[in-house]
Parts: sequence; structure tokens; C-alpha cells
Amino acid sequence: MRYVFGNWKMNGTLAFAEEYVNKLLGEVRPASVQVALFPPFTALSSFQYLVKDSFLKFGAQNMYYEDSGAFTGEVSPVMLKEIGVDYVLIGHSERRHIFLENDEMLMKKVEAAHRHDIPVVFCVGETLEERRTGATKDVLKRQLILVQDILSRGDIVAYEPVWAIGTGVTPTMDEIRESISWVKELLKADLPVLYGGSVNKGNAVDISEVSGVDGVLVGGASLKVEEFAIIIKAFD
Ligand code: PGA
Repeated sequence: MRYVFGNWKMNGTLAFAEEYVNKLLGEVRPASVQVALFPPFTALSSFQYLVKDSFLKFGAQNMYYEDSGAFTGEVSPVMLKEIGVDYVLIGHSERRHIFLENDEMLMKKVEAAHRHDIPVVFCVGETLEERRTGATKDVLKRQLILVQDILSRGDIVAYEPVWAIGTGVTPTMDEIRESISWVKELLKADLPVLYGGSVNKGNAVDISEVSGVDGVLVGGASLKVEEFAIIIKAFD
């Protein structure tokens, strides 16, 4: 089984979601790929109806680790469970870097998701500076150290170098293979590891051929339904 996941980030209205999902369901019939979309919270609850009885799975881009309470602006695992999400993204580089979520907080989020039986897509990746100074392996190790024992069957890890996200620049296929194999070495469980960072219709086939890559987490290119469909087919 391979995975093609689309992270819409802070994009996509309800109207957009409805049109997109209907188009995608008409355009692809994946045989061996699990496809999931991660829309913003406002569109998320409509997904339980939009994807009903289809191959399409859906998840949240983030979540807080408490079940309820005085946490203005946050969404809890109980709320996500209620609408039937299949996954929650934890530790996306934009959460780490823009919203300053640290490794301890991310561990609490993984634990909270597990308490409610929500599988996580846990994201890791080095910055350009860290890559340049040869610190990539150490950074991935640090990002995984608190969760490597608790990530378990059903969970997924996404390797997303920060410098490749939204930049149009991707690592070489060798660099992708090396980092993914290092991540797999660090994990205690045998989990799928996805690559993310500027995946598009032009590089999807090459990336799909890199050994160890179990799928992709697609940002910008997942907003174009035709392009996302091409990426799905590249992995199917
Ligand atoms: P990108 O984003 O495909 O736009 O580079 C990937 C991600 O942030 O998951």
C-alpha cells in the first residue's frame, strides 16, 4: 500500500471542497494507493459527508492535546473523533516554525491522538542551514526521539525538508532515499514513511521510484485537482 496525501494548508472554502472532491472522485479509482486530504478546519466537518462510501480519507492539519477547556482557537481530539477523521497531521514544519511547537508539545499531541484512536501523520525535516552544516541526521533523530517509542501501527511519518516546502526545490533522489532510510532506522515500529516538499506532477514518478518511499505528502500541488490526480496515478 502506498499513500498520496494532500495538505491544503490555509486554503479551500466549503464551496471549493465540494467541487474538488466531486471532481477527484470522478477522475481517479486508485487500486493500491490510499488517498487522503487535509482541508482547513472550516471545511473539515463537511468531509464526513463529501467522502462517504468512497476511497477518499480525510484528516485534520493540527489539533491540541487537551480534550476541552479554556484554549481559545484550538480544536481537540474529541472534536476530530466526532467527525470521523482518519488522521491528524502532527508537527508539520509550519506548526514547528511559525507557531513554535516544540518536541515536547508534539509528543503530547501524539499521545492525545492515540488516547482517542486517531492515527497521526508525524512530520519531521531539517532546515537548509541544518542540511548545509551536515546536521540532518541529528535533527531527524532529535525530532523523533520523544515519539519513536509511541508511534505505532496505523501511524505514518512524513519526511519533509523545510527548505523543500513550497520552494519548488527538492532534494536529490539519493538524498530522499538516505533520509527516509535513516527515519526508518530510528522508528521502533515498521511504519510507512512519506516524502513531502515541492512534490508535483513533474517529479512524482521519479519520487515514486525511490526505494523506501511509501508515498508523498503534497502541499501546493494538491490544490489543483487535475494535478493531484496525476500524482495519485504516479503512485498507483
Ligand atoms: P509543498 O508542501 O508541496 O507545497 O512544498 C508540502 C507540505 O508542506 O506538506
